[in-house]
Amino acid sequence: MSLDCPGCGSDNVRRLSLVYEDGLHALGGNAQSAAVALGTRGLGVQLGRSTAQEAIQTASSATAAPPVKTSYRPSLLLVFIAVALVGPVLSSRALALALFLLGGVLLGLAVRYNRTIWPSELHRWRATYRCQRCGRSFIPAIDAGGSLDVGA
Ligand SMILES: [Zn+2]
Repeated sequence: MSLDCPGCGSDNVRRLSLVYEDGLHALGGNAQSAAVALGTRGLGVQLGRSTAQEAIQTASSATAAPPVKTSYRPSLLLVFIAVALVGPVLSSRALALALFLLGGVLLGLAVRYNRTIWPSELHRWRATYRCQRCGRSFIPAIDAGGSLDVGA
C-alpha cells in the first residue's frame, strides 16, 4: 500500500480522522455563584454551580470533519405542525396536508441518506489520508491501481 501523496510525492501524510481529532481541544470549566437578595417577601439566598464544556477547533480540523447524518428534526417538526393544524384550524386542511406531505418527503430523504449514503461516506472518510505538505486528500491504493484523489 502506497502512502505517498499522489500530488507532491511526500510521505508526510496523516489519516484524515487523526487530523480532525488532533485539531479538537475541549475546554472544561466550573463556575460557582452565590447571591443574596432582599425583597418584599423577605430574604432570599441562591447558590449555583455550573459546568461548561467548550470546544476549540483548528481550521485544518474543521476541513477534515467526518460526514454528518441528516437531522430528522425539521421534517418531524413539519409533520407535527401539520397534525396540530388539522384539529383546531379546519380551514387550513390543504396547508396541513401540504406540510404533512413535505415533512414526510423530507423525512424519507433523511432516512434514505442516513441509511444508505452516510455509512459509505463515513467509510470513505475513515480511509482518507491528507498530505501534510500540500494538503491534498486521497485514499491510498490497496493494490497497484494508484491512489484515489478525493480533492484538496
Ligand atoms: Zn502532497
